[in-house]
Amino acid sequence: MESQYKPSSSVSARGKSDPAWEHIALSTAADGTKVYTCLFCEKEVRGGGINRLKQHLAGIPGSITACKKVDHDVRYRMSEYLKEISGKKKEASIAKRRF
Ligand SMILES: [Zn+2]
Repeated sequence: MESQYKPSSSVSARGKSDPAWEHIALSTAADGTKVYTCLFCEKEVRGGGINRLKQHLAGIPGSITACKKVDHDVRYRMSEYLKEISGKKKEASIAKRRF
């Protein structure tokens, strides 16, 4: 399978360069589960990855409830960020299909 890594200059330390970390705290539960905490509403999410917290911050319904305390500015940035990610994925599959 193709690697999901993009040879982008901004990606170095995996994950921690993500702007979402400004609004999310990561801790580890006693059983080793990663626990993500929204710094706006203090909602805790066990497992699932940071993308679920981004959906929470962006107010995208689906796998998680929307944050009720997030700044408008942050919500906008997170939704733009998620759009960017899904846009890149689409581009890649279109390129493949064309060939
Ligand atoms: Zn929240």
